[in-house]
Amino acid sequence: MVERIAGVKGMNDLLPPDSARWEWVDERVRCLMQRWGYQGVRTPIVEPTGLFVRCLGEVTDIVEKEMYSFVDRLNGDPLTLRPEGTAGVVRATIEHKLLYDGGKRLYYAGPMFRHERPQKGRYRQFHQVGVEVLGWPGPDVDAEVVLLVRALWQDLGLEVGRDVHLELNSLGQASERAAHRQALVAHFEAHASALDDEALKRLHTNPLRVLDSKHPSVQAVAETAPRLLDFLGPQSRAHFEGVRAVLEASGVPYRINPRLVRGMDYYNLTVFEWVTEHLGAQGTVCGGGRYDGLIEQLGGKPAPAVGWGLGIERLLLLLEALGRIPPAQAPDVYAIVPDTSAVAPAMVTLQALRQAGVRAVMHAATDQGPASIKTQFRKADASGARYALLFGSDELAAGEVTVKSLRDGETAQERRALAQVATWARTLLPGGDN
Ligand code: ATP
Ligand code: MG
Repeated sequence: MVERIAGVKGMNDLLPPDSARWEWVDERVRCLMQRWGYQGVRTPIVEPTGLFVRCLGEVTDIVEKEMYSFVDRLNGDPLTLRPEGTAGVVRATIEHKLLYDGGKRLYYAGPMFRHERPQKGRYRQFHQVGVEVLGWPGPDVDAEVVLLVRALWQDLGLEVGRDVHLELNSLGQASERAAHRQALVAHFEAHASALDDEALKRLHTNPLRVLDSKHPSVQAVAETAPRLLDFLGPQSRAHFEGVRAVLEASGVPYRINPRLVRGMDYYNLTVFEWVTEHLGAQGTVCGGGRYDGLIEQLGGKPAPAVGWGLGIERLLLLLEALGRIPPAQAPDVYAIVPDTSAVAPAMVTLQALRQAGVRAVMHAATDQGPASIKTQFRKADASGARYALLFGSDELAAGEVTVKSLRDGETAQERRALAQVATWARTLLPGGDN
C-alpha cells in the first residue's frame, strides 16, 4: 500500500453535506449585500509581508506569531498568506484609486490563514466575510455596518439578545488614548503580580492590548482598569452617541463593554463585536470598527473607513448549535434507467427539466452496467428526491415515462408524455401548484 498524505493540520476540507449549509449561508450573504448596496471585491490570497506588518502593527498576535510568511523561491520576495481581509482591500483601494469619485461600500469573502492552535472554532485556514465602507467619517455608516450584521442574523433566523449579542465601545482618538494609556499603565503596574509574561511585555509596548488578554488573573485586573470611555473628548463622545442613537432607534439591544479593544492596532472611535455564548472561548463571531488612519498609513490619500469581519466557520457552528439547519438540497427528481438504451432519452429529458429550473439527477451505471430497478429505486429514495422517473422500455416505446412519487405514504404513479414532462416539472418549483 502506498502511504497516504494527510491534509495540513488546522486546515479543513469542506465536504457534503456541510458544503450545502455553507453555500446556503454564502447565498444569504450575497443577497444581503446586494440589497444594502455593497459591491464585491476579490483580492489575492498572497500579499507582500510588509503590508500586514504596516497595517496590523508589529506588536499584535497576528504579526508576532500567527502569520504564514515565506520567501518566494524564485525572486526572494517576502510574502504572506493573508491573515485578514482589510489590508488587501485597502491596498487595492489605494492602488486603483477607488475613492476618486467618493466613498465606497465594499464586501469580500474568502479564506484567511493564521498559525494558531487548532480547536473548535479556531483553525489555521478559516473563512471570513467582511465589509469595508471607505470614505465617510460619520457615525451613520458605523451604525449602518452594525445594522447590516443584524440583518444577516435575521436572514439566518438568529435572534439578537438571545442567540447573539452586540458589544460596543469607543477607542476615541490617538490623543485620548495617550492620556488613558498613562492611567492604564499605572493601574497595571500597581497589580504587576497578577500579570502573565505576555501582559508584562505588552504593558509598555501596547498596554491597551492587555485589556484584551484571555488570561483569567489578567482579566480580573483589567476589570477594574481605568475606562478609555472616560477619557474621550466631546467630539469622540458625540460620535459614539450618534452610533448609539441609530442603534436604539433601530431596536438593536447592545452592551457597552469598556474593555473591548479588538486585536488590531488600526482601530479608532467605534469598535464592536457580535458575540455568542454557544461557542465557548471562541465566542466572537464578528468584530469590527472604525479605522480612519489606515488608508494614510498604507500610503493613500487620507480617508476615513469602517468595517467588520465575520468568521464563517463560527457562524456555521453557531447555526448548528442552535439547530438552525438549512433546507436540504435534495434533487426534485431522480431518473431510473433500467437499460443502456434508455440513457440517451433520459439525459435529453433531464436536460429539459434542468433548464426549467428543476433539480434532476440520473442513476449512473457501474462496470456491470445499469443496476437493477430495485437498487435504483433504493438510491432514488436515499437521495431525498420527491419523484422517481422510470425510463422503462415500454414507456419509451410509447414516448412516455413513469412518474412515481417517493413521498411518504404516496404510492401514486402515472405515465406522462416525454414531451410534457418539463411542463409538469415546472409545477414542482416554488410557486408551482404541486
Ligand atoms: P479571537 O479573539 O477569537 O482570536 P480575533 O479578534 O483574532 O478573534 P478577528 O481578527 O477580528 O478575530 O477576525 C474576525 C472574525 O474572524 C472573528 O470574530 C472570528 O469569527 C473569525 N476568526 C478569527 N480567527 C479565526 C480562526 N483562527 N479560526 C476561525 N475563525 C477565526
Ligand atoms: Mg485571534
